[in-house]
Amino acid sequence: MFIDGQSVISESDDWMDVTDPATQEVISRVPLATSDEMERAIASAKKAFETWKDVPVTKRARMMLSFQHLLKEHHDELAEILAAETGKNLEDAKGDVWRGIEVAEHAANIPSLMMGETVENVASKVDTYSLIQPLGVCAGITPFNFPAMIPLWMFPMAIVCGNTFVLKPSEQDPNTPMRLAELFYEAGFPRDVLQVVHGGKDQVDQILNHPDIEAISFVGSVPVGEHIYKTGTDNLKRVQAFAGAKNHMVVMPDANKNQVINNIAGSACGAAGQRCMAISVAVLVGEAQEWIGEIKNKMAEMKPGYWKNPESFYGPLISPQAKARVESLIAKGVEEGAELLLDGRGLEVEGYPNGNWLGPSLFHHVTTDMRIYQEEIFGPVLCVMTADSLEEAIELINDNPYGNGTSLFTSSGAAARKFQHEIKVGQVGINIPIPVPLPFFSFTGWRKSFYGDQHAYGKQAVRFYTETKTVTSRWFESDIPDDAAPNATINL
Ligand code: NAD
Repeated sequence: MFIDGQSVISESDDWMDVTDPATQEVISRVPLATSDEMERAIASAKKAFETWKDVPVTKRARMMLSFQHLLKEHHDELAEILAAETGKNLEDAKGDVWRGIEVAEHAANIPSLMMGETVENVASKVDTYSLIQPLGVCAGITPFNFPAMIPLWMFPMAIVCGNTFVLKPSEQDPNTPMRLAELFYEAGFPRDVLQVVHGGKDQVDQILNHPDIEAISFVGSVPVGEHIYKTGTDNLKRVQAFAGAKNHMVVMPDANKNQVINNIAGSACGAAGQRCMAISVAVLVGEAQEWIGEIKNKMAEMKPGYWKNPESFYGPLISPQAKARVESLIAKGVEEGAELLLDGRGLEVEGYPNGNWLGPSLFHHVTTDMRIYQEEIFGPVLCVMTADSLEEAIELINDNPYGNGTSLFTSSGAAARKFQHEIKVGQVGINIPIPVPLPFFSFTGWRKSFYGDQHAYGKQAVRFYTETKTVTSRWFESDIPDDAAPNATINL
């Protein structure tokens, strides 16, 4: 761990293995930090805040530029660390790192992002202006599926705003965020502005209940997100919690068929379906229902494999437990009457008999009462549903509790305009399957996919990690008689 500027080997008795999901080989061991270690990390971040908050914003921005430069220089090395512990193929691993680098790039714009507002003469000779100030110690709790991008959504933005940060990465793949932290220190940031601790529920609960933590960013599953949002806000902390998803792609019969088929298969199976923006439901409208055979053939081409093999379209699931869970949901889908057109269970990858492999799976005739529709599956499984019209498809999506991402494939501008306006989902793609916004926008999941007010990165992250102070001021010219003094109250 990195605590109080030092690299620390935990004194915990509780350690977990971090394994290569393609082989089960132990790559490293991760401690569940002791309560004392957690306390030391938070206390050190609190102390560091006292000086860090006054470091000029230009200096903070330049350190962020150095960090961004180092991330680029170490891009491929980071991608290999990430691929080894997540099993993602190299292209996906590079994408995970790159999307994080873009946030660091954006964070380097902090002087203009932290500008307040001014109105002169709100009353006679009175001006009002706002100052944007950091909060104090912020914490981040991240999931396994993007071990570079999601920590980088958080600590660069929080720290460049003048806060200090305690990061608790996923215990399933902590090596990538540890390397990110090393590069961060190398970029010149004081080591105590970023603390990295490891653990699970107990360590997170200590963060949630600690009086010195001002704000918490969480990304992960719905039950944990709800727990974190409820407990954190009960403790009067600022919380943003990004949670699970069920993303629908609507396919109109006037869409470009080849684009539809390639994009459905790629976005359902890419990263083994372990993306919060993966397409997990395709809604085929009208005559597009006839494309089901071609969708099946394309999905069958998506082959999982080891990350070093350039032919692998995607990797294994993160753990044997994750694989067992997805397999049991597939069994449930069959039991509940969905038609399993492709069954990925039992797939073997030559040379890797112990990997958590799952081939692409495709269900047809899925209905809203089935568990495979109601739950986030988080595997390479696509549910296909049908609708007679765009209106019916929109109603289906709006009735689903999740609201992370959705997309529409069509060649009609009118259909696209209607969809983007009426859909109750926070990130919409038009002929784009996975519409993740770049960091000058924000990552804007809705409904059950997000709890909180301000989203990740972009201007919203700056608002989340800062407080606005509004100053109203009047200055007297000493050589002029002060006839305004008796009416000191500003009449608003
Ligand atoms: P997870 O909820 O199991 O774990 C996330 C983090 O919470 C980890 O750091 C973990 O140690 C911690 N945690 C686990 N159980 C806890 C508990 N009981 N109390 C407190 N903390 C606990 O999620 P995961 O399996 O690592 O990640 C996959 C999930 O993340 C999926 O549901 C996916 O949709 C979601 N996700 C959402 C987004 C988004 O932007 N909405 C992005 C990425 C991932």
